[in-house]
Amino acid sequence: MAPKFFVGGNWKMNGTLASGKELLSTLTSAKLDPNVEVVVAPPALHLLGAQQALQGSNIAVAGQNAYHKASGAFTGEISVSQLQDAKIPWVILGHSERRTLFGESDEAVADKTAAALSHSLRVILCVGETLEERESNKTMDVVVRQLEAVRKQVPEDWSKIVVAYEPVWAIGTGKVATPEQAEEVHAAIYKWAQEKLPKGQAEELRVIYGGSVAGKNCKELASKPSILGFLVGGASLKPEFVDICNAKL
Ligand code: PGA
Repeated sequence: MAPKFFVGGNWKMNGTLASGKELLSTLTSAKLDPNVEVVVAPPALHLLGAQQALQGSNIAVAGQNAYHKASGAFTGEISVSQLQDAKIPWVILGHSERRTLFGESDEAVADKTAAALSHSLRVILCVGETLEERESNKTMDVVVRQLEAVRKQVPEDWSKIVVAYEPVWAIGTGKVATPEQAEEVHAAIYKWAQEKLPKGQAEELRVIYGGSVAGKNCKELASKPSILGFLVGGASLKPEFVDICNAKL
């Protein structure tokens, strides 16, 4: 059976309690494709309220980041075990904004991924190249390096990982990758998974695309065979997120 199409909404550091509530009520009252798994990632402060507001719906919540240590003197951090304790099922890790603005290395992302999985969280693992890396033909080197760092620490079970391919140059820029550009990298990620992950896992893996996904481009992207969902930033704050969730209809 083909894995379920996945749409994540990454709210980043946006919104108020009131605007988040309004957005969630738009989502819970909308008719969403029942064959799509939808997960939203509000700011940490809004996670529990969002989880409560989504009770009884098919929409789950995700943290936008987590620290790999269980507890301790790490001012400002939220740990994977605290997310687990609060019954938050998902966490986004390795987002390019974390990597570039907050200096998270491939190894730090791998530490976090391994820790999250060991605390029963599901992980949206972000990978992707900068414009400079793409222009110097390093896209797959970078993506494979980021994936391999995680595989070193998670050699066996990727069943709770969704890989989000997010070219950095497409994030928040309105400059979406063409369906062909995205498909090419997704297909290469699947090839990597076939070769490097234990047997049977590549077939179950969802590789989703992120970077300026919008209502107007989602259907064409979703029609590509290796694009199994989206991670959406800006458009996840708007009612158009519903159209993106329904891209396969
Ligand atoms: P964007 O962000 O949709 O605003 O480009 C995507 C992301 O950062 O996940």
